Amino acid sequence: MEKVVPNFFEELLIKQYGKEISENIILNLLKPKKVTLRVNTIKSNVDEIKEALIAENISFKNLRWYNDAFIIENAKEDILKELEIYKQGKIYLQNLSSMLPPIVLNPKPQENILDMAAAPGGKTTQLAALSQNKAYITACERNKIRGEKLKYNLEKQGASMVNVMLEDAASLSDFFSFDKILLDAPCSGSGTDNVFKSNFTLELIQKSSKTQEKLLRKALKILKPGGEMVYSTCSILKNENEKVIEKVLKDFKANLVQVDLDDEIECLPCAIKEAKVVAPNELFEGFFVAKIRKILC
Ligand code: SAM
Repeated sequence: MEKVVPNFFEELLIKQYGKEISENIILNLLKPKKVTLRVNTIKSNVDEIKEALIAENISFKNLRWYNDAFIIENAKEDILKELEIYKQGKIYLQNLSSMLPPIVLNPKPQENILDMAAAPGGKTTQLAALSQNKAYITACERNKIRGEKLKYNLEKQGASMVNVMLEDAASLSDFFSFDKILLDAPCSGSGTDNVFKSNFTLELIQKSSKTQEKLLRKALKILKPGGEMVYSTCSILKNENEKVIEKVLKDFKANLVQVDLDDEIECLPCAIKEAKVVAPNELFEGFFVAKIRKILC
């Protein structure tokens, strides 16, 4: 069946980006994604993974902005899932866009970090790896079934410093205080092929922006003064990104911090000059990333 985006989405895109950019976004959303992976440096290293891929005649490319990421040229996900390096948790199949928020948050050993909407754990395990498995990470997830998948992935990837909380992150106690927070918020998936699915509706976008606002308010309450957080979504719509941030930041003493990405990463126009909207294409899902610092009182 031919894939088409719903009319309401096309209209929203045109209103936000104009006709030419919108047509290009839709064409790119239609393209199949290349398989990309991240080396799990808790259990392995780039050289070991290169050798294992070469031994299987799997060709790959590296990226100049992230040594641990590989673009796979000639194998699908099911082939990679058969490899020992996959079964042993030495690699994690992850879209390149999804690797950006942990890099931007820049976790360090001994920091107290909250991953507010964590399952299935791609970014939690990356936060663990980036901090040499030495940050104290709390991974919160509301959905119990997805929470089980999160626990499975943490175990498989050897992310042993992560404490899982199966709760609504919006109800976390205000007495918590974290050095850093990742809010990879639940969203409509408007930057992904979710736009071709029947659950992609205007109501989903509206419901998502309400949840996002609630979660961002909570994040800014339980972030330490002077602490930093990253807000990200796999949506390219300003109702789920710029508008949520602009509305919430009015009520907090916090500043946006400039997010700089490699020139290789194509971006869309963004209403917040410090944030980035990654354009969807064969390698990247459409993604929004913003960084916020809570002002020291
Ligand atoms: N960060 C994850 C990763 O990289 O693997 C993907 C997270 S996904 C975009 C959003 C997650 O938030 C979903 O697993 C969803 O069940 C969860 N979620 C939705 N509302 C939540 C809430 N109020 N509190 C905690 N988790 C929530």
